[in-house]
Amino acid sequence: MYKIDAHTHVGEGAAVWTGQQVVERMDTIGVDKTVIFPFTEGYFNNDLIPQYVEEYPDRLIPFAAVNPWNTHEAADELERCYQKGFKGVKLHPTLCGFRLSDKKLVNPLFEVTEAYKGVVIVHGSADLYNCPLEFDRMARRFPKVPLLMAHCGFFWEWELAIELALENDNLYLETSRVPGMESSKIIEKLGATKVIWGTDGPFCDYEWEFNKIKRYAKCEHDFDLMIGGNIANLLGIQ
Ligand SMILES: [Zn+2]
Repeated sequence: MYKIDAHTHVGEGAAVWTGQQVVERMDTIGVDKTVIFPFTEGYFNNDLIPQYVEEYPDRLIPFAAVNPWNTHEAADELERCYQKGFKGVKLHPTLCGFRLSDKKLVNPLFEVTEAYKGVVIVHGSADLYNCPLEFDRMARRFPKVPLLMAHCGFFWEWELAIELALENDNLYLETSRVPGMESSKIIEKLGATKVIWGTDGPFCDYEWEFNKIKRYAKCEHDFDLMIGGNIANLLGIQ
């Protein structure tokens, strides 16, 4: 089964991080594939993503990032990305300044994603605009769209995030930046089928993010699901 990092930034933004650098880092610990998308600070676009994927088509999985305040353009841009082979979209409600469940701004992005059978990953560290209840609303509104809560609602609301992920079949918790104790409880209470490994590259300690899943997985099978199996299923990767 593939080892797949579900959350890494590339391009130029808060850092400069190329597709080659992503792959070199993957090779240090034997990771097979990585979901890549742009940094979401300030102005950003998706232009470099296909270039990186072309260099490493078997290793890098293209996701877009859009700012829904570019109202009509955001949905059109996302649709263009899906037509080019992108597999999902990253949203950052805090940095871009929108409420995740804002119907006017965000529904069109989920509608396009549903049409192209994509996956949505959203910064989910329990800030005002992306607290777990915002995810709950979107998961119920779009039950066919797989929705990943990056950072599991840590710091304040990781326990609520577990409850809501248990209530919504399409809501998953992605573990980047979540410390050991909380990671162990999330894995224990939510179960391996709803937990997805990501590293928030290039920002986090890559090996530590990987090792914490290994440490808290109850068995090899659970580890395989969390470290790549679940996201592979959502993306239709065999
Ligand atoms: Zn991130």
